[in-house]
Amino acid sequence: MGWKRSCPKIACFVWAVVQVLGLASPALAAQSDDWSILETQYTRIQYLSREDLRRFNASIDYGPGRWSAKRVLQAKPSTSMEDGLANKVDALFERVQEILDMHPQMGKVRILLLHDKKHLAAEYHRLFKAPCHIRSWYLHIGSTIYINCKDVRVGILAHEMGHAVSEHFLVFSPPRVSAEVWSVYVEAHLFDD
Ligand SMILES: [Zn+2]
Repeated sequence: MGWKRSCPKIACFVWAVVQVLGLASPALAAQSDDWSILETQYTRIQYLSREDLRRFNASIDYGPGRWSAKRVLQAKPSTSMEDGLANKVDALFERVQEILDMHPQMGKVRILLLHDKKHLAAEYHRLFKAPCHIRSWYLHIGSTIYINCKDVRVGILAHEMGHAVSEHFLVFSPPRVSAEVWSVYVEAHLFDD
């Protein structure tokens, strides 16, 4: 699955314009009382229902024998679905930092778990006033990953985490192409030994 579907040029262009002009108000989406929050060490996952969270959890599957996350997770027994999910997301975040060799001091990344494709498109339109043709995106204003809980892959989430880490690592926002290359690199090397 290529990065183009995750972050096509037009989306990244819109994203860059938003960074410069400060057009977006991503906080609005999170102010509804409808959202619940799962805090992890590195992220704040906002979701609408436990079923959405369960779907997200089921999608974050590293598979047997893949990279060191398995060892990390075995070392941290989880007593609940929420605990297990938090461990997996944090292990993925650490893996992204390791691949990029970037360990910025930063606050938690917000993961906005949208209910479905329609919800994702509505949020995209609210922010960018344009139709949505992508599966996920990261917005540095609000340090937020927008993702559809019914359409999650580990690689997509890692890709967007890569944007968050590189944006926070550099004093100035990286050039759009560089940021994209780093995130594609994360996806490509996620399961390397
Ligand atoms: Zn991207």
